[in-house]
Amino acid sequence: MRGFSSDLRRSGKTIAFVPTMGFLHPGHLSLMEKGKSLADHVVVSIFINPTQFGPNEDLSAYPKDETRDLEMTRKAGVDAVFLPDANQIYPEGFQTVVSLKFLPGHLCGLSRPGHFDGVATVVTKLLGIVRPHKAIFGEKDYQQLAIIRQMVKDLEMGIDIVGAPIVREADGLAMSSRNMYLTSSQRQSATCLYQALLASRQLVQDGETSAAAITRSAAARITMVPETTIDYITICDPQTLDDVPVVNGPVLMAMAVKVGKTRLIDNLMLTP
Ligand code: AMP
Repeated sequence: MRGFSSDLRRSGKTIAFVPTMGFLHPGHLSLMEKGKSLADHVVVSIFINPTQFGPNEDLSAYPKDETRDLEMTRKAGVDAVFLPDANQIYPEGFQTVVSLKFLPGHLCGLSRPGHFDGVATVVTKLLGIVRPHKAIFGEKDYQQLAIIRQMVKDLEMGIDIVGAPIVREADGLAMSSRNMYLTSSQRQSATCLYQALLASRQLVQDGETSAAAITRSAAARITMVPETTIDYITICDPQTLDDVPVVNGPVLMAMAVKVGKTRLIDNLMLTP
């Protein structure tokens, strides 16, 4: 991978990088398309990073289909796919952790302790191997994108971090590899995240400014839907991710909801 990248760099070509955990869907493909529009070559990694999964999370069950993924990347016109295995990324003796002080202390970081250390560390390592000019991340994982941006800035990595909008199913459900865990009734329930976000956007447009009132109303909507358990619903500052009590400028509304055993996340900007 390093050799491939060095050769391209030496010949003056630019590289866009799309890190993924595989089981690709149109959300991932939109990142590859964006990469193609921003650089001469696109590199995709497929690596189910064990260190970003908690002990009671779905590491061993995480969906995988390498043949299908490679076919999709080929059709998408990707130049190289990097598929390391866990002991290449974490050989014996590996001991470095990249950890941010504040951004992980919000949203998903609260219910997934250590998750963003795992993400920041693996992304640092992948960026060090692939050495791209640009790296594309989805806004679906908004907190992850914010953390990577901050890390790349703090550590002077000199890589342009680019965000890409959430790609949704026709009924609004944010595409995710984890959607395949859902039974057909859970799949119907899962539309409640986006519905609640849209209703919240409407409340704000109608003049509601109390974050507590907006999140309460979203929670009430979601609680009515079968098989849902709310992890969090938050209205926060899009940069710091600190809670915002009064909506008087653009804010991020973000939520994590379990549908059955599957934890889904979604978010939307709300602008008064
Ligand atoms: P994952 O394979 O889930 O780790 O995701 C790899 C990248 O794809 C991350 O930057 C995600 O934010 C992004 N991504 C996943 N789902 C979507 C989606 N529905 N729309 C846009 N980007 C996405």
